[in-house]
Amino acid sequence: MSNQKIDSLKSDLLSLLSDPSSLITEEEKLQALSKDEWFVSAMPQLALEPSNAQEVASILAYAHQHAIALTTRGAGYGYVGGATPIHGGILLSTARLNKILQIHPGDAIAIVEPAVITGQLAEAVRQEGLFYPPDPASLHHCSIGGNIATNAGGPRCLKYGVTRHYVLGLQVALATGELVEVGGRTHKNKTGFDLVGMFVGSEGLLGVITQATLRLLPRPPARAMLSAGFENMQEAAQAVQSIFSAGYLPSAVEVADHFTLKAAREDLPKNFQQHIPPGKAHLLLEVDGQEASVISEIEGLKNILDTSALQVEKALGESSCDFLWALRRSFSMALRATGLIKLNEDIVVPRSRLCDLVAFTERLQAESGFPIACFGHAGDGNIHVNIMIPAQEKEQQQEKIDLLLEKLFQQVIQWKGAITGEHGIGLAKLPWWKMATSPQVRSLHRALKSALDPHHILNPGKFV
Ligand SMILES: Cc1cc2nc3c(=O)[nH]c(=O)nc-3n(C[C@H](O)[C@H](O)[C@H](O)COP(=O)(O)OP(=O)(O)OC[C@H]3O[C@@H](n4cnc5c(N)ncnc54)[C@H](O)[C@@H]3O)c2cc1C
Repeated sequence: MSNQKIDSLKSDLLSLLSDPSSLITEEEKLQALSKDEWFVSAMPQLALEPSNAQEVASILAYAHQHAIALTTRGAGYGYVGGATPIHGGILLSTARLNKILQIHPGDAIAIVEPAVITGQLAEAVRQEGLFYPPDPASLHHCSIGGNIATNAGGPRCLKYGVTRHYVLGLQVALATGELVEVGGRTHKNKTGFDLVGMFVGSEGLLGVITQATLRLLPRPPARAMLSAGFENMQEAAQAVQSIFSAGYLPSAVEVADHFTLKAAREDLPKNFQQHIPPGKAHLLLEVDGQEASVISEIEGLKNILDTSALQVEKALGESSCDFLWALRRSFSMALRATGLIKLNEDIVVPRSRLCDLVAFTERLQAESGFPIACFGHAGDGNIHVNIMIPAQEKEQQQEKIDLLLEKLFQQVIQWKGAITGEHGIGLAKLPWWKMATSPQVRSLHRALKSALDPHHILNPGKFV
């Protein structure tokens, strides 16, 4: 774009904004907005931080009329380059739309603007005796808008479901500049198509979410956890199956493999180390509910684990459970501390394939020479397969890495799994989008995209 065109674009956009400081053109600030937590970056021509939904809609109408690429950014804590403006143009940051507008205990809903940080909402509703279950590990950094656009998950999905299950209504600015409200504030609503579901997980390709009405639950008064070490992953996976066969539904069942545990044993401070059980596989279980049932369930679960685990530690109450979660979250840091680059692939397999997945990644490790660390949500088969690459080798080994990923995704698809359970496609999974979808499904995506965004201005260069 010529300088003259950029100047006229700036003055046109300024006329749509109530606060001129919402227009960002400084190189340094644009640089900070040029990427998320994935490694690829791309500079936008300029960035905008609109102050309200109406301004978002006006910006979209303008971008539509002039066919200008526009990429939406929440907190920029995505893992797949979804908010990276790979075609330049306008970067629309929702940062100023950051208010919790209403928490209504009677209706069990919260109405929020998109840039509210997930952890802050969870804490605000907790104060009211309510519960917002979606708990991505990034919850202290990521936004509700980003969670909705990626249909974020987390450990508690096993019992409580993913973000989609908590979105009752949305206000969305469409590419053409209209503001629409879909869904509502009731916990059930079957009026027409599931348009809320269409926008959830749409990765900024179908509209900009400007407000969300979220479903809340009563806060479970009690929690308890078990942390168990096993001889190997097969034993741990078998224990997971035994838990479900016995009719238990924990709120979370997390697994970590040998490589992850080894990194944790080498890196973590003493107070954490004392709580890493022996063995080459680790399971962490949580149950929540009324105190009497939590105590009885945790005993039942402990009896099951005791039959095959090397050691089982029990935690009752908020602070001991929070400690075990802190230990679990520190596994990711421990992997980073190895100095290797962690390529985190959030694949999902049908639960019965957990052991097959572990055996398969062990074979990939042997073939490629790259260590692979597996940990994640064993309860729903969403295992994070982390390929660990020496930083200095990343560029020269790219072909080998791509081949390894290709084999992993091919196998996952063959097992009827999915190449992403929660992070989304973004740029990171784009090369495998075709492998993961049928021509009919891709054509359905294109039809929806063209109907809602006829000039394809929203987040261009991504999977549609
Ligand atoms: C350390 C770490 C741990 C993580 N753990 C988890 C996890 O446990 N579970 C999980 O699901 N994810 C996890 N993630 C991934 C990430 O945090 C989620 O994808 C999160 O939902 C991104 O939110 P965000 O606000 O940062 O979105 P961004 O990165 O800003 O954007 C993500 C996508 O959403 C679109 N978008 C953002 N806001 C809007 C909006 N208002 N309207 C329309 N489109 C929008 C963007 O265009 C982009 O495509 C993790 C990431 C990191 C770095």
